Amino acid sequence: MHDVAIIGAGPGGSATAHYLAQRGVDVLLVDKADFPRDKTCGDGLTPRAVSVLQDMGLVEDLRRAGYIIRRFEVFAPNGHATGDDVVLHNGMPDYALVVPRLILDNRIRQRAVQSGARFEPRVHVDAVRVEGLDSAAYVEIAGERDGRRVSFRSRLAVIATGANTGLLVRAGILRAQPKVIVAARAYFEHIRGLTDAWTLRFDGAPLPGYGWVFPIASDAANIGVGYFKHDRRASALGFFELFRRSPAMQRLLAGAKQAGPVRGYPLREDFLTSPTFGERILLVGEAAGLVNPLTGEGIDYALESGRIAADHTYLMLERGDFTLQRHTAYDRALRERFQALFEFCIWVRAWCARPVALNMLVAMANRRDDLRRRLTSVVLGGTPVRRKPTIGRVIRALVRQG
Ligand SMILES: Cc1cc2nc3c(=O)[nH]c(=O)nc-3n(C[C@H](O)[C@H](O)[C@H](O)COP(=O)(O)OP(=O)(O)OC[C@H]3O[C@@H](n4cnc5c(N)ncnc54)[C@H](O)[C@@H]3O)c2cc1C
Repeated sequence: MHDVAIIGAGPGGSATAHYLAQRGVDVLLVDKADFPRDKTCGDGLTPRAVSVLQDMGLVEDLRRAGYIIRRFEVFAPNGHATGDDVVLHNGMPDYALVVPRLILDNRIRQRAVQSGARFEPRVHVDAVRVEGLDSAAYVEIAGERDGRRVSFRSRLAVIATGANTGLLVRAGILRAQPKVIVAARAYFEHIRGLTDAWTLRFDGAPLPGYGWVFPIASDAANIGVGYFKHDRRASALGFFELFRRSPAMQRLLAGAKQAGPVRGYPLREDFLTSPTFGERILLVGEAAGLVNPLTGEGIDYALESGRIAADHTYLMLERGDFTLQRHTAYDRALRERFQALFEFCIWVRAWCARPVALNMLVAMANRRDDLRRRLTSVVLGGTPVRRKPTIGRVIRALVRQG
């Protein structure tokens, strides 16, 4: 019987495991994959994500393994650009990082193991249920490993299985498959004229959505595109090809070599309506719909929610209190931290679906330092959001600034 079993060793699951094991909790971490394993992603770590990785003692190593980003550029649908330096904001580091997930996820998992968590690879979990009654209750986790049935027991469980919702539906925590957005990426090498900025492009990309160029070396990058509308027919690979063929990308990639295939994957960003717990189970990261609806960034929220889940799980174990109240306290903590930001991002996303609005925003950002700084902060997920802006308030601000 373990204290906590964590299903999924992505950033969310491994961060939860680290923060619990560090406090002496007996943690079992399982994943269907063997590590190191890749995960389709843009590999971008915002300053907010870097700050959690710093807290985990991983940053020096990741700075060596990845690429440090100090500048950020946005291209409007009409091709005009604005940009800014990544600045220190709310105590966050003044840089972002790009670290291929093949490296990043393995380092975070290794950190959890160093802290004392036990890791079991190649365990595909297909059932999680509570057995026993009252003080004798426990969570039974069952699955398959190398063609054989295996099972584990724990007092509490954390599900951190990312956008893969099968287990959550089977466990009755999700009633239906949530709507998803889609994205695809590929690596390119020998790129001439690559800047060392994080580049977001609205020219050649589907709206609402954007294309990105995230350098992983001075001449290599993770290049991709995301389409942020709930549309079951949307093809991430189709949008990637359109983006690749846009004039700006044709220029950038002339002479470059694609390294590996184009890969697409869905993203869940339904945190506002998603459950965050089941009986004796907490959901972490994308399993709770925690992906920024404006940028598609989810690593930071996986790490942050992992740390919050560890705090709550620790309290439940320490007090022997597994009541509904303790589960809802976790839900409240997540909503206090992320709800306003998610509402704000969904609102901005609707606004950014209009090319005219984006062209205007970029032109204005070039004239006003404060707007440019705010734009940088929104994209990097660091905005202190107090009130959701209304259309009227934005129009008034635009008129004043114009
Ligand atoms: C194309 C694309 C680009 C993106 N770009 C960025 C970016 O630049 N920056 C950013 O911050 N975010 C980005 N994201 C989002 C980010 O990849 C995810 O939000 C993030 O990985 C979520 O972390 P997680 O720990 O919640 O889940 P995951 O990283 O998905 O990890 C889940 C783990 O659970 C395991 N698992 C799943 N089901 C089971 C099961 N039944 N049994 C056992 N194990 C299981 C998986 O093997 C996996 O290891 C991007 C996503 C996509 C698709």
